[in-house]
Amino acid sequence: MSKAAILDGKAVAARVRAEVRVRAAGFTAAHGRAPGLAVVKVGSDPASAVYVRNKRLACDEAGIESFAFDLPDHIARAALVAQVKALNDAPEVDGILVQLPLPNGLDANEIMDLVDPAKDVDGFHPYNTGLLAQKRPRLRPCTPFGVIRLAQEYGIGLTGLRATVVGASNIVGRPMALELMLAGATVTVCHTRTRDLQSEVERAELVVAAVGKPGMVRGAWIRPGAAVFDVGINRTEAGRLVGDVEYAVAAERAAWITPVPGGIGPMTIAMLLSNTVDAAERRAHG
Ligand code: NDP
Repeated sequence: MSKAAILDGKAVAARVRAEVRVRAAGFTAAHGRAPGLAVVKVGSDPASAVYVRNKRLACDEAGIESFAFDLPDHIARAALVAQVKALNDAPEVDGILVQLPLPNGLDANEIMDLVDPAKDVDGFHPYNTGLLAQKRPRLRPCTPFGVIRLAQEYGIGLTGLRATVVGASNIVGRPMALELMLAGATVTVCHTRTRDLQSEVERAELVVAAVGKPGMVRGAWIRPGAAVFDVGINRTEAGRLVGDVEYAVAAERAAWITPVPGGIGPMTIAMLLSNTVDAAERRAHG
């Protein structure tokens, strides 16, 4: 029997999307066009196809116009560069999302660096990451931003909290640490060279797991009363989706825990929509 309260990302994401819908309708009424998001998919990775389809459907539902660019696996680097530059210049496009990973031979960093920071609704451009690092957030990486919003919605105070982030990637772990610092937490970041992961997790009042390995964070490591945010999405051999945290045991000890699926995944998409309307409003008003 689980003791932890479940952090219902699906329900909170629905609320965020409802807010976005109202703001998008307001933008459309004021400017004669809907906020626009260009979703660029390169190649035929099946997981990317699912993510991209979900993002496009979410746009439709929120009153955001999505522009689909499905580019072939073997697209030349120069053609992709030209596509991104054209989207930077397109007035009806407020946000540009290039779905990762890119096929072999294309440098994701080079492509992300080309996206106009004002349209970088994923928040991956070094300019936006830099602003977050300097406590001046603008377009904020969607997954970490979603964790913060979910914590806020449940009244989980982050100020002064001892937080451990497991995972240090550019798209999740690192910006997560910056978001938690911005919120006033005291943050430890763990990665493959961390000496004693267990003790770093054991003393945390808030744990974010973003590794990509099922059950990597053992339930028995969770400090009683902690808040646990599981970003990991892993498919088991049986085809089930599971996170990075050993859920059943962790839920016995934690005070709050996110499920997988239905936790951070829906929040990530909701924050993408929210960033798109933010970008549209900022572009319209200067
Ligand atoms: P990456 O593979 O880019 O990064 C994984 C991180 O985990 C790295 O920093 C790595 O350390 C660290 N790591 C790996 N093994 C260990 C270990 N044994 N001990 C400690 N740290 C370890 O993954 P992402 O950050 O892109 O994604 C992480 C997970 O989150 C994946 O399951 C992904 O599918 C999911 N995800 C979910 C999203 C959502 O919407 N819910 C959005 C984005 C991702 P090092 O830096 O040393 O290599």
